[in-house]
Amino acid sequence: MSRIFCVANQKGGVGKTTTTVNLAAGLAQIGQRVLLVDLDPQGNATMGSGVDKRTLVHSVYEVLLETTGVAEARVRSERGTYDVLGANRELSGAEVELVALERRNQRLAQALQTVDADYDFVLVDCPPSLSLLTLNGLCAAHGVIVPMQCEYFALEGLTDLVNTIKQVHANLNRKLQLIGLLRVMYDPRITLQNQVSEQLKAHFAEKVFDTVIPRNVRLAEAPSYGLPGVVFDPSSRGAQAYVEFAREMVSRVGRPQPASAAAG
Ligand code: ADP
Ligand code: MG
Repeated sequence: MSRIFCVANQKGGVGKTTTTVNLAAGLAQIGQRVLLVDLDPQGNATMGSGVDKRTLVHSVYEVLLETTGVAEARVRSERGTYDVLGANRELSGAEVELVALERRNQRLAQALQTVDADYDFVLVDCPPSLSLLTLNGLCAAHGVIVPMQCEYFALEGLTDLVNTIKQVHANLNRKLQLIGLLRVMYDPRITLQNQVSEQLKAHFAEKVFDTVIPRNVRLAEAPSYGLPGVVFDPSSRGAQAYVEFAREMVSRVGRPQPASAAAG
């Protein structure tokens, strides 16, 4: 019954990890059961959830290689509000190892089926590339959330990502949709950001989320405490924006219905 979403953008430093951990914490705060999957060998979402990547017993790497299952590998986030399937540097080897294996795109999708009943939302933090790891995320997902800064080159990279989503939809995963573009690190005093934001709305219309995440130093400080900003300083503007975004996600993609209710 879980809905699976990738947080993806092939550029680095655009707010993917910040969005993943804060959306996870925000959804948990409004009563959703959440699993965060860290697909980036940097392990920032793992650390930002208060889970030490250096002492992980099992990680997403072993899940992809099928030497362990999600149920064995998941751990609880620092304040215990959501689950984490963690990553560390080991995962950078998976890229090469997977190439030689069968079903190499579908490993994450198949692993997540085993915990389908345990979560309302599964959020996948993707690495900054359109790699085999990201492809595993896209093959597992119902949708993609694209965080972006409203800067001059932001639109350029978007074309490649949108094309990749179309390709995966056409060839590998018919469920996959672009859910929306999330404007992050937004500063309304900067004219260029307003202009790019208007261009985005003109071009992508309802695919642009209503919620805007402001540039907020509390969101940047939180990871060093091993907490999402939403938990670290709930009254900060950044935290409030991410809880608002969690509400927007629930209303956009719907609360999953039990199979019996859906059938009736
Ligand atoms: P990515 O995962 O795409 O590489 P991150 O989420 O790690 O990006 O963000 C890059 C940097 O920007 C980090 O230092 C993070 O703390 C900071 N950051 C992200 N979102 C915000 C925000 N809304 N306000 C201020 N700083 C932010
Ligand atoms: Mg990241």
